Amino acid sequence: MAKLINGKEISQQIKDELKEKVSALKAQGKNICLAVIQVGNDPASSVYVGNKKKACAYIGIESRAFELPEETTEEELLSIIKDLNEDDGVHGILVQLPVPKHINEEKIINAISPKKDVDGFHPESVGSLCIGRPGFVSCTPAGIIQLLKRSEIDIEGKHCVVIGRSNIVGKPMALLMLRENATVTICHSRTKNLKEICKEADILIVAIGKPKMIDASYVKDGATVIDVGIHRDANNKLCGDVDFASVEPVAGAITPVPGGVGPMTIAMLMNNCVEAAEREE
Ligand code: NDP
Repeated sequence: MAKLINGKEISQQIKDELKEKVSALKAQGKNICLAVIQVGNDPASSVYVGNKKKACAYIGIESRAFELPEETTEEELLSIIKDLNEDDGVHGILVQLPVPKHINEEKIINAISPKKDVDGFHPESVGSLCIGRPGFVSCTPAGIIQLLKRSEIDIEGKHCVVIGRSNIVGKPMALLMLRENATVTICHSRTKNLKEICKEADILIVAIGKPKMIDASYVKDGATVIDVGIHRDANNKLCGDVDFASVEPVAGAITPVPGGVGPMTIAMLMNNCVEAAEREE
């Protein structure tokens, strides 16, 4: 039976550590503030934004909410971001994606100051990660590194296969594993012999967006399997990109869905906000 990597517990640990840090900063007269901008009222986005505000309240970070109507123009949004970039009282700026179609997402990401880019999506943040300079790292992959480290799973020298090459998960994930001295292979929809490559992985990180696609036939005995996917199955139950029932008996360690990678994303967002305030010192 595989060891269960408990993201709920580990994310709680991180949030409690951050809560202590924030209260120490408050004692020195420093309040941390995250600006959270949502354009329109997509129900899934509202849930994500609500969870982020809740996490801020728990840790002691002020969240300044901007709930903008769907018709907000790109210029209006850019002007709000400009003001927040210049506001010394704001440490992090988060624009909940996706934005409505009439707004250019890339322009919005580029407008956020890299100093306040707590999502880690700005090209300067990504470039810094690539060349090993300090900068903010996309929260989901950063959370996966914490899951591995805090579960005492060695990364150095291991063969890590990442399935998926998106800008927010797959690519930064591969770069982070490289930074941790893993030997990294990146797979995607055009990869040939996907199964054979996955079977060589000591650590298999799956971010494909396809429910239960990865079963035991892709997994080496004893491998660590990290499932980034989130879906609802035919019975409306949450599931991942990995077929947990099939993989769990062969894996050495595995993340469940829910309760694995999911809770880590917000914990790392909170971590980035605290870092933004600390870097300002
Ligand atoms: P994207 O759809 O942006 O990327 C999916 C990647 O998987 C692409 O690189 C694609 O390849 C690759 N892919 C698709 N089909 C196959 C296939 N059959 N074989 C091999 N590779 C394939 O997804 P994201 O990276 O944004 O997210 C991945 C999953 O993680 C989703 O389920 C998403 O909901 C979840 N997620 C969870 C988060 C969390 O907090 N837990 C946060 C973010 C995402 P190509 O580039 O060639 O198209």
